[in-house]
Amino acid sequence: MQTSTTQTRQTRTTCCYCGVGCGMLVQTESTGEHIRIKSVQGDPDHPANMGQLCSKGSTLGLTAQPHLYEQSRAKFPELRRHKDSPRKRVSWDQACETVAQRFAEIIAEHGPDSVGLYVSGQLLTEDYYVFNKLAKGLIGTNNIDTNSRLCMSSAVAGYKQSFGADAPPCSYTDIEQAATIFITGSNTAYAHPILFRRIEAARQKNPALKLIVVDPRRTDTASMADLFLQILPGTDVALYHGMLHIMLWEGWIAQPYIDTHTEGFAALKTLIRDYTPKAVAEICGITEADLTEAARLFACSPATLSLYCQGLNQSSSGTDKNTALINLHLACAQLGKPGAGPFSLTGQPNAMGGREVGGLANLLSAHRDMKNPEHRQEVADLWGIPTVPALPGLTAIPMFEALAAGTLKAIWIVCTNPAQSLPDQTMVHAALAGAEFVVVQDAYAHTATTAYADVLLPATTWAEKEGTVTNSERRISRVRAALPAFAESRNDWEIALDVARRLETLMHAGSQSIWHSLFNFTDAQSVWEEHRATTRKRDLDITGLSYQILEQQGPQQWPYPQGASTGTTRLYTDGLFVTPSQRARFTAAPYRATSERTDARYPIGLTTGRLRDQWHGMSRTGTLARLQAHAPSPSVDISPLDARRLSLTDGELVYVTSRRGVQILPVRMTDSIRPSQAFIAMHWGAECVSGHAGKSVARGVNSLTIAAIDPVSEQPELKFAAVKITKANLPWYLYAFAWMPADQAVRLQIELRELFDQASFVTATIFGRDEMTSKNGQMETGLSLTMANTEAFSEALLRQIQLIFNAYTTGEQSSLSFRDSRHNSQRDLSITHTQTEKYISSVLLTGAGKDVAAEVWLRNYLENQKDITALGRRLLMPGHIPPEPMLARGRMICNCFNISEDTIRAHLALAPTLEKDLALQSLQTSLSCGTSCGSCLPEIKAMIASNVH
Ligand code: SF4
Repeated sequence: MQTSTTQTRQTRTTCCYCGVGCGMLVQTESTGEHIRIKSVQGDPDHPANMGQLCSKGSTLGLTAQPHLYEQSRAKFPELRRHKDSPRKRVSWDQACETVAQRFAEIIAEHGPDSVGLYVSGQLLTEDYYVFNKLAKGLIGTNNIDTNSRLCMSSAVAGYKQSFGADAPPCSYTDIEQAATIFITGSNTAYAHPILFRRIEAARQKNPALKLIVVDPRRTDTASMADLFLQILPGTDVALYHGMLHIMLWEGWIAQPYIDTHTEGFAALKTLIRDYTPKAVAEICGITEADLTEAARLFACSPATLSLYCQGLNQSSSGTDKNTALINLHLACAQLGKPGAGPFSLTGQPNAMGGREVGGLANLLSAHRDMKNPEHRQEVADLWGIPTVPALPGLTAIPMFEALAAGTLKAIWIVCTNPAQSLPDQTMVHAALAGAEFVVVQDAYAHTATTAYADVLLPATTWAEKEGTVTNSERRISRVRAALPAFAESRNDWEIALDVARRLETLMHAGSQSIWHSLFNFTDAQSVWEEHRATTRKRDLDITGLSYQILEQQGPQQWPYPQGASTGTTRLYTDGLFVTPSQRARFTAAPYRATSERTDARYPIGLTTGRLRDQWHGMSRTGTLARLQAHAPSPSVDISPLDARRLSLTDGELVYVTSRRGVQILPVRMTDSIRPSQAFIAMHWGAECVSGHAGKSVARGVNSLTIAAIDPVSEQPELKFAAVKITKANLPWYLYAFAWMPADQAVRLQIELRELFDQASFVTATIFGRDEMTSKNGQMETGLSLTMANTEAFSEALLRQIQLIFNAYTTGEQSSLSFRDSRHNSQRDLSITHTQTEKYISSVLLTGAGKDVAAEVWLRNYLENQKDITALGRRLLMPGHIPPEPMLARGRMICNCFNISEDTIRAHLALAPTLEKDLALQSLQTSLSCGTSCGSCLPEIKAMIASNVH
């Protein structure tokens, strides 16, 4: 469609969040020089999602609105000349030259292994390729690792150990062909929502399809299971060995397959003798009957598909967990056929692409092994250099430990936020603070990590980049630019290229011999074509594929060798594997407990995981008010039994203390968790929640987690830490909330971080509805700050907060104020006047905790923009009961239609005896909830189930 001034365009691209890799259609509208995203829809032709998008994907366009980018994006390169001076804007030339020179100096003085690159599973394959070549080909170090180390390196190690290659054998279509789906260590409903939609659809089509879920928490995924095994954390290996023990005893194994296609079964058979049902049920905390039923459903089903993720990988025995699960598939011949196989779900959008280019400290291009001299020579020959380094590189945790120890001098961090996401944040922050030279390349300017950058390099992000990604099912999709680069940002591979060319000139300076640049790339396609050449005759051979084929035929699964006309749906269909004997390998590894155990001092096992609507450190999703609505503030989840034992009420503040740190949080009681266990979402980092306890600085959930790693995969144990939970007893509270102009709220939330060290507990988040217009016609977003402290808040702090919360008022305003110096309490309200009404636009409450808590009804008035004309000065009376009951907005369940938990419960209460399917239908017809992206469906169904008796 075209008018004289406005043009619309549609761009086919890929979601930048999880490893499902959904295709999307982005509609942009341009007028003159201005271009904006009008809508984002699922691509009906993409085989991963067939038109669907989840709550995160469907709101990607909203996260890219100019007013949000203005507040959050890195706009231009910045440089600080001295550690204690602020960064200043510089040109790209100055920034890249500084990075190249400092790296060259440090390499010349301390050797190539004195520098490191820490990159990301969110980079495109082309970005990854250039960074990997820069480290291993030019600098001559294997010190390049990625945040994918935190999410799937155990899966890589498991596949390589069992099959001889890092190749997930399955496809998403196996979901529709499976007779049993075994989800283990994955909250698929939250982490891979569109796959969960496919599971729901498959079950609807085939009611005989069995769903088994294994998880220490009763997640939304678990609530849909036919059989739920709520195992104790970290006991997965014992569970799988116990299942195999039963399968052997019952004769449910596939002996001909074992004899023909595998090796090492005798040793495993000996090992699992000890894993009797009784012993395993005790270790795992489940019943023998459930264990037996799981073994039967797994082994006797015509096709069993395992889906697994961080619950297996983020563990100090992550590789053993992966191989023990694969053992079950091999023993029952549950792979290489439709609907069957061990299918690792990748957390990030391009963790697979990173593996393909060898962008990890222990890998080389195209799944080659860095330890293998022939592989090293092959890569050196492909790159036209004498050798690639043989010394193993530093993986994520050792890299930051080396930085802390001073043996690693300089680090270049790309598209990731280790000062939020790595375990043991005290160590990580000390490492970054003490490093000689820190380069941070990111699209977002205000992550916890950018604070440490000596050089900040602004990068492009989703909807601005060109290249490819590979999803969990080995499918390569094109990523295309719908928008121009924001401000002065550049593509990640181009930044790497610029620095690499300068660095190679510096490194060759003084050399008499003729040298040729390793970096003669002209565009993303030329990078990809060099990567393609490295895959020839490898298990992931894509020599038959091209950008043109991806353009014409859409996303394709590897391998796609020369001569092929289509990609490969399923691997190992012939029972031949990539090991020297072509047989798959059984691994006989005994069950090992978590690296840290609970004891009398730290009696509670803490686990971490995802929220439904947030992504990683929230640098993007945290800027969108509607994505905060499902889980508006941080909490630690504990069982009602533990809450009673500790005399805690819902929302009460507690110290969560591990051997590494402390974080104060409100408790949330939930029966989804077993007694003596706790859960904190992985997203809550120093950007949103902080405080101090004595000398210790709290930096969110990873203040508590442990840096212990798996000995093979070197993946850290983010899923388990021993903690204690104790009442915080903080007498003084501060609660401020306000409507802010939408183009200021995120910036002010960032500004509030300056105050985070002034209380024992602090959290600041945004709330509201995006593109919400207030009664005076302005687009507004809510900003909320909660603080709690051992001492009353100082006048100076209150003034600072008032300045931030009252700085942005529009239209006619009045204010109400009440101070009680005897009780150190204060109440300030700003009132906005329209022609006919008055409503509350900001509130600041301080005082004793229980008094402040009693005033939350003011938040309901503010959020609902309720007319307060009739309340008059009663608004200032402490302990005043609002004159009319008002339904709290509560937690939002359906984000698409803005339907809260309370509204759904109220609707269900109207017809409590309605049968489940009819209750869902009634909700969908009356409120529309669950009829768009579907991310809320598991929770709505669980609410219906708890309502119907
Ligand atoms: Fe994106 Fe959601 Fe699809 Fe994952 S499931 S790729 S987050 S739309």
